[in-house]
Amino acid sequence: MKLIMLGAPGAGKGTQAARVAAELKVPHISTGDIFRSNIKNGTELGRKAKEYMDAGKLVPDELTCDLVADRIAQDDCKGGFILDGFPRTIPQAEALDKVLSSRGEKVDYAVNIDVPDAAIVARMSGRRACVSCGATYHIEFNPPKKEGICDVCGAELILRADDKPETVQTRLDVYHEQTQPLIDYYAKQGALVTVDGTQPMDEVFAAILAKLGK
Ligand code: ADP
Ligand code: ADP
Ligand code: ZN
Repeated sequence: MKLIMLGAPGAGKGTQAARVAAELKVPHISTGDIFRSNIKNGTELGRKAKEYMDAGKLVPDELTCDLVADRIAQDDCKGGFILDGFPRTIPQAEALDKVLSSRGEKVDYAVNIDVPDAAIVARMSGRRACVSCGATYHIEFNPPKKEGICDVCGAELILRADDKPETVQTRLDVYHEQTQPLIDYYAKQGALVTVDGTQPMDEVFAAILAKLGK
C-alpha cells in the first residue's frame, strides 16, 4: 500500500506514520528526517536545506522531488511505503504522480490528520525530538520513559529549533498557503481520507486503520 500523510506541522503525521508503517510492514519515509540527517552529517544538501528549515520555509522542490523519487525506487519500497511530510506542494504531488504512473502505480490513500491551528501551537512547544533516530515525544501527551532520553535508541531529546512559537506560526502560514491545497488534489483523485487529529493518539491510530480497511 502506498500512503501519504497530510496535515499541518504538529498534526501527528510522524507519530502516526511510524505506527502505521510498523502495522503494514512498509518503510516510513520522512523528508524532514532525511534533511535533518543530512544537516547532521554536514552534506551539501543539508547545508542548502538548513537555511530554509530554520526559517520555517519549505526547502525548494528541486532539492526535494528527486530525493524522494530515488528513495521510493529502492527495493524496500516494492511492497509500498508511507511518505511523511511529502508532498507539501502541488508541484511535488505532480512529480510523485509522474514517478508512480510511469510504473503503473498510484497513491492509494492520502491520510489527512485534521487539527486546528490553536491546538498546534500548544502541541509544538511540548514536542521533543530524538537527535539520533528522529523519534518524537511530547512532554505531556507522550513522555519518554526517562526524561530527556529516547526510549528507542537512548540518545538525547531536544526541542527542535523550528518548534519555537515564532517559527511555528510561519510554518502554519506556509502550510495553509502551499500544502493545504493538496487536500483537494487528493480528494479529486478519490484517495483522500480524513481523521480527527485532536483525539488521543491511540484513537487517531485506530481511526486511520479503520479508514484503510485494516
Ligand atoms: P513537521 O512534521 O513538524 O511538519 P518536518 O520534519 O516534516 O516537520 O519538516 C521540517 C522542515 O523540513 C519543514 O519545515 C521544511 O523546511 C522541510 N521539509 C520537510 N519536508 C519537505 C518537503 N516535502 N518540501 C519542502 N520542505 C520540506
Ligand atoms: P508532525 O509529524 O505532523 O509534525 P508529530 O507526530 O511530530 O507531528 O506530533 C507533534 C507533537 O504532538 C509531538 O510532540 C507528538 O508527541 C504530539 N502528538 C502527536 N499526536 C498527538 C495526539 N493525538 N494528541 C496529543 N499530542 C500528540
Ligand atoms: Zn532515538
